Parts: sequence; C-alpha cells; structure tokens
Amino acid sequence: MKAIEVVENLKQRFPGEPEYIQAVSQVLATIEDEYNKYPDFERANLIERLCIPDRIVQFRVTWTDDYGRVQTNMGYRVQHNNAIGPYKGGLRYHQSVNLGILKFLAFEQTFKNSLTTLPMGGAKGGSDFSPRGKSDAEVMRFCQAFMNELYRHIGPDEDVPAGDIGVGGREIGYLFGHYKKLTHQFQGVLTGKGAAFGGSLMRPEATGYGVVYFLQSMLQTRGIDLKGKRVLISGSGNVAQYAAEKCIQMGAKVLTLSDSDGYIYDPDGISAEKLQYVMELKNFLRGRIREYTSRYPKATYHAGERPWHEEGDIALPCATQNEISGEEAQALVKGGTIAVAEGANMPSTPEAIEAFQQAKILYAPGKASNAGGVSVSGLEMTQNSERLSWTAKEVDDYLRRIMSDIHQNCIKYGTEHDGYINYVKGANVAGFMKVAKAMMAQGID
Ligand code: NDP
Repeated sequence: MKAIEVVENLKQRFPGEPEYIQAVSQVLATIEDEYNKYPDFERANLIERLCIPDRIVQFRVTWTDDYGRVQTNMGYRVQHNNAIGPYKGGLRYHQSVNLGILKFLAFEQTFKNSLTTLPMGGAKGGSDFSPRGKSDAEVMRFCQAFMNELYRHIGPDEDVPAGDIGVGGREIGYLFGHYKKLTHQFQGVLTGKGAAFGGSLMRPEATGYGVVYFLQSMLQTRGIDLKGKRVLISGSGNVAQYAAEKCIQMGAKVLTLSDSDGYIYDPDGISAEKLQYVMELKNFLRGRIREYTSRYPKATYHAGERPWHEEGDIALPCATQNEISGEEAQALVKGGTIAVAEGANMPSTPEAIEAFQQAKILYAPGKASNAGGVSVSGLEMTQNSERLSWTAKEVDDYLRRIMSDIHQNCIKYGTEHDGYINYVKGANVAGFMKVAKAMMAQGID
C-alpha cells in the first residue's frame, strides 16, 4: 500500500483524530522512498501495523474534590509499539487531552525512542484532568485514582510512564507512592522520580538542555555560535525553563516565555536570576507568566498572543502541539530567525514546517531535538536496574553524547543534494528503520 493510501485508510477508520492523522502523514511522506527499497515490508503490511497502536487502555477515573464533590475524568494509556524495548512515554494531564492526541504522541514517541539508541518502545497516556487551580490534596487523590487502574498495565519490563504537560515531579511522586502501595513493590516503573527514591539526576533538566545541545550541533554545521543570539521561547513549564537556563549559560539572550494565556517580552533578556523567579512562580506558587511584569516592569505582557511575531535569531517552541502557524513561521523567517529547534512535540503545523524548509533555515522536529528527556528517562531505568545512582556529570555527558549521535543520524539520512539537512526526513528515516527491522525479525503477530 502506498503511503497516501495508508493515510486515507486511517482517516476513514479513525475520524475525529486530526493530530494522529497529521503525525502519521508527516512521517509517511518522508520515509516512503526508503520503505520502497524493502519489498518485504509491503508483504508484511508493515506500515499499517506500525501506525496502529498495539493496545489502548481507556478507563474512568473517579476522585473527590476538596468540597466533597465526586468528579470523573477519562484516563488513557496508548501502548504503541514495543518492538525494540518496553513501552515508554509520558503521561499528560490537560483538559485538551483526548485519544487522538495521545495516539499522535505515542506514534511520535516510538520513533523518538528508537532515535535515542536506547532499548525503548513507544507509548503515551494521560487524562483530561487539569491540575491548574487544584490543591495538592486534590492532585494527590486524582493521581491515586488514576493509578488504581493504570498499575495493572505497567511494569519495569512492560511499560514505564514518565511526565509530560501537567505531570511533573509532584505528580510522579504521588503516582509512584500509590503504585508501591497497590503492588507492594519498589520498582523502576515510572521515571522522573525524586532523586531520593530512584530518580536520575539531570532528569528535570534533560529535555530543555538536550534541545540546546541539539541546537548547538545544528548551528555548528553553519559555523554559527549561540553566544549573543536572541532567543524566543514559548511555554514556561519544564522544557521551556531548562531550555532557557542552558541558553543563558551559553551566553544567549532569552527574550520571551509564555503560558496558555499569553507571553512576556523582556527587552533586557531573562537573566539567570529572573529565571529563578519564573521557576519559583511556576513550580511552587503555581502562578501565571503575566506576573513576571509586576516583578520586572520593563517587560511587557501580551495577552492571548504567542511570541512568534517578535524578532529573534532562534525560536524554541516549548509549549504544545500546533503552536506555530504557517503565517507565524513566515513572520519568524522574515524577522531573521536562522534556527528553530522544537522542545514541544509537533509544535509546528505542516504549513510552518514548509515555510522553514523553503527558507532553508535550520529546523529540527521535536522527535530529534527533544529526545533528551526520554533518553535520561532510559538512563534512569538503567540506574534503577543496577540499583546505582550516577553523578550529574555522568548523566550530562551521556545526554550530550546521545544528542550528538541523534544529530549525526539526521545528517546521515537527511542531507539533500544541495547540502541542506532535512532534519525531519533524517529523524524519521533513522527512527523508522530500526523499529521496522525489529518488527520484521519478530514475525507477524
Ligand atoms: P509543562 O506542563 O511543564 O509546561 C507546559 C507549558 O506549555 C506551560 O507553560 C503551559 O501553560 C503551556 N501550554 C500547555 N498547553 C498549552 C496550550 N494549549 N497553549 C499554549 N500554551 C500551552 O509541560 P512540559 O514543559 O513538560 O511539556 C511541554 C512540551 O514539551 C509538550 O509538548 C511535551 O509533550 C513536550 N515534551 C516534554 C518532555 C518532558 O520531559 N517534560 C519531553 C519531550 C517533550 P499553562 O501553564 O497555561 O498550561
């Protein structure tokens, strides 16, 4: 079956899942040439088998809020593919979560995990529960109710969830505590745990730092230094915070951060000290990014807008999917942006990707540039199995090496005739081939 036929077929079978169809279309469009070199793949109907998740678990989560009201949410785990290792991927808590979004994320995760060179399959899960505005006690009760079902489907050699939007250290702690209570087992069944109970050092930093390591490798291909460059960042959560921290450490000037209500622009740049304030505001006070301007009045707040009309040399989208439209991508290119590295998953729309690639600017898709998070999660699994903890330096060295290897793979499979590196193609082909060959070797099941 041709890639376009597979996509049409999936559209018919799974209507109402646009993000899933978008992700599948993007990958298939870039791997078709490679795939056609292997007639065996076609006979084994490999593409269709790789696009449809192995298993989906869907359940009701019932919990009680602080006023004694009984609430219900939906819970999901999409176990996409375990050809190269146990299922692995984050949990997202956000009101926008639905099955189509989790299917897109699990599909992407499969190729990303393959790219990391570590033995991890792909999965994703979560709930339409929003932690925003909830007390700690409510979040804890929700996590416990969620785990009451999830624990049946996960295990250190079966499926190892981690965090994502709305699921950080606090939530992982509650989920882990309840898994332990239900099973009587202390196992490396979740990653992103606290350092005192099996978490890896550098896991909180890993995704954001990894994005900047990847960005550095991209810039090096054109002999450009990150120092002094103006950086536009969206989001103000885990990925955005540590991407900003690493940019600042490298001497770049971070101009923007955002949340789902709007963005702030600081003409003087967000210094390390200002970023500490943002971390305190977002991680402990659970405040909004607009409060930054009360503390630093030279900065401006732009309600209901995204930062992509500001001028910057580099853009790091670190909030959510489809957060850069074609028009915004054009504005970035016009404003002089030379590189875009995705911290979020699929933040650029297909029109935006086209605009970046047509302008021949450096553009890295999330599955390559944000793979640092899951890589260090993989290293956390290794440390848990060994019952050892590595130093921050050891983990950081590993992370740098993995990001550099992923970059090399993108060059290997994505360099075009004119020398332009098509990172989308490179990442998709490299990620795909490993999973495809493993599936072929394991027979039809
Ligand atoms: P967080 O929950 O820590 O932060 C998410 C940030 O994005 C917040 O600032 C949030 O604002 C904003 N945001 C969320 N939804 C929207 C929306 N619909 N529109 C605008 N802004 C939004 O999540 P992470 O930082 O962990 O994740 C960010 C992205 O990075 C996601 O795409 C995730 O899948 C991806 N990612 C994360 C990894 C990790 O290790 N954490 C690994 C690889 C990828 P608000 O506070 O208003 O909700």
